[in-house]
Amino acid sequence: MLPFKLVYSDAYYLPIGAHVFPAEKYRRIRDRLLSTGVAARDDFIEPQPATDQDILLVHRPEYVQKLKSGTLTPREEMEMEIPYSRELVEAFWLAAGGSILAAQLSLSNKVSISIGGGFHHAFPDHGEGFCMIHDVAVAIRRLQRDDRIRTAMTLDCDVHQGNGTAAIFAGTRTASSLLPSVSSTSLARREDAPVGGKMRQAHAGDVFTISLHQHNNYPLWKPPSSIDVDLPDGIGDDDYLAWLDNALSSGLRQFEPDLLCYIAGADPYREDQLGGLSLTIEGLKRRDELVFRVARTRGIPIMVTFAGGYARDVEDTVTIHTNTILAAKAAE
Ligand SMILES: [Zn+2]
Repeated sequence: MLPFKLVYSDAYYLPIGAHVFPAEKYRRIRDRLLSTGVAARDDFIEPQPATDQDILLVHRPEYVQKLKSGTLTPREEMEMEIPYSRELVEAFWLAAGGSILAAQLSLSNKVSISIGGGFHHAFPDHGEGFCMIHDVAVAIRRLQRDDRIRTAMTLDCDVHQGNGTAAIFAGTRTASSLLPSVSSTSLARREDAPVGGKMRQAHAGDVFTISLHQHNNYPLWKPPSSIDVDLPDGIGDDDYLAWLDNALSSGLRQFEPDLLCYIAGADPYREDQLGGLSLTIEGLKRRDELVFRVARTRGIPIMVTFAGGYARDVEDTVTIHTNTILAAKAAE
């Protein structure tokens, strides 16, 4: 029995047909956890779909209306890069509900993981890059609306920059000009790059966003996060972990979140079809361990979503995500 809950539904499956996004990964992760005895059936909890009211905390009414009535333009559907269907809309409403539930559970259990979600390329008024609804942003706004949290931090370790996250929360940051801009064009700068910034007075509703990603990759236009770490191609485990440690420490020196939302993409993996970094499976596990250790040491509740993962062998993606759950367990 795990010391935290795994939020999961068979209906997380995205009905997108043959696609580079392995929609069956969620079920495979669940099966792996059960077959290896990492988790028992009681460790899983089934979410309810988010309500339209929840979705509207982040997304524009016109966009929500288009999704519900099936009236996206061909261009809007193309930009989403997944084929529209009513069933797909339901899957995204459920993913958002799963992230809300995981965020709620993490406040009482310190940790909760949704075996899904992390759709960080969704914007208030459109979807992009396999993402229709920004489930993590919906969860943050819902908990803020319910006065369960005042502030949150997103830590995005997917190989692709969290452009939707940055855009959604851009207006809520304070004194962003004080924040360090991490440039990693030269790793030699690691020692002196993100040291700046002192703790600021956070206001209710503030969300501090951190994204570690491959610079030379989708999305082309990267709206600024609070901290962006633009990694060069081919970065391996040790460099990546040093940058992560640096960015997370820097963020937490400046901002005390009531909730940490960890977007644990599996696509920094060296065998990923859509990534250009060189992390190993072991390195990705060390990444997860670092994040859980920091959250635990500082007493910050952490909720996790899984985002991307396009390994040539889908079993590797399943292993990377399963390891995230093992790392969370080991940190308890
Ligand atoms: Zn990705």
